[in-house]
Amino acid sequence: MKREIKELIELINKNKPGRSINIMEVCGTHTMAISRYGLRQLLPESINLISGPGCPVCVTPIGDIDWIIEIARQYDVSIFTFGDLFRVPGTESSLYNEKSRGRDINICYSPIDVLNFAKTNPDKKVIFIAIGFETTIPLTSVIIKKAYNEKINNFYIYDTHKLIPEALELLLLDKEVKIDAFLCPGHVSAIIGSKPYGFIAKDYHIPCVISGFEPLDILESIGMTAKQVKEGRSEVEIQYKRVVREEGNPTAVKSMYEVFDRSDSLWRSLGNIPGSGLKLKYKFLRFDARAYFPVKKIKSSEPAGCECGNVLKGIKKPTECKLFSKACKPENPIGPCMVSSEGSCAAYYKYEKFKT
Ligand code: SF4
Repeated sequence: MKREIKELIELINKNKPGRSINIMEVCGTHTMAISRYGLRQLLPESINLISGPGCPVCVTPIGDIDWIIEIARQYDVSIFTFGDLFRVPGTESSLYNEKSRGRDINICYSPIDVLNFAKTNPDKKVIFIAIGFETTIPLTSVIIKKAYNEKINNFYIYDTHKLIPEALELLLLDKEVKIDAFLCPGHVSAIIGSKPYGFIAKDYHIPCVISGFEPLDILESIGMTAKQVKEGRSEVEIQYKRVVREEGNPTAVKSMYEVFDRSDSLWRSLGNIPGSGLKLKYKFLRFDARAYFPVKKIKSSEPAGCECGNVLKGIKKPTECKLFSKACKPENPIGPCMVSSEGSCAAYYKYEKFKT
């Protein structure tokens, strides 16, 4: 392993362009691996890794958290969510705090467990908070089809799913954001394949490399992106060939679009991104928690001083936030990037706060 790392670093040095470049690792799992294995510190100074918006919890608008809290307060419902969202602060509370006040809010590991809970508790109204990117959407769609076919009428979803390629285009259009190349997410790409990134290479002339998650994968991918920049190429290359195919997983994609249509979506700090979200098709509208559990108007506001927006766009490093490691720590998070296991601030706090 040591020898392979040394060889990859030599290759990166050989292929580095004659200028400084910013490579954005889109996916939060990449961010965590880069911090954990100290990969940033192995690179030449001219290669700057910046984190992107690929952390589903981090890009879930604070208004959604406030909305879910209001549903829990106003209705007799059982709410299930993945663990990371539990501790993200809303405007004046969190799901964790509401749970401690007796609301029926629970952590789940899979939506199938939630559906089974609904099946075995027909007297309860059960809401699954459907969060995540293309990696998790096919599973949600399978669960909804199953609920539909089995006529499970006490199951609902609060949909906050988001699609990655559209968010990357938004970053490229933002004049404040400087990106020379993307490390594209391996898991998302296992579903959608490499073609949806084609417009980034073709229209914006930005190289893309779909990367695996092991340290050697990431280093190899950085070398591939640097080489493209140096040679003036912009292509979509797949480093993570043991998992990702050019065509992705057509069965999973078909399943997604049997249940959902594309829609615009609001991303935390990034704003509304056209075509970056999903809405239930007419046939499945009865599963829509927002429609069945309306809440009175909520006034949401972002936490003062939190720089998550700039962190998610790669404009600032977590350590450039004045609250980092002072008022904001994992045990007392102020923004979502310090909570999530894929959040940049959490990664820097855990592994890099003494290195930068
Ligand atoms: S350190 Fe905390 S307050 Fe600052 S950007 Fe990160 S999550 Fe937000």
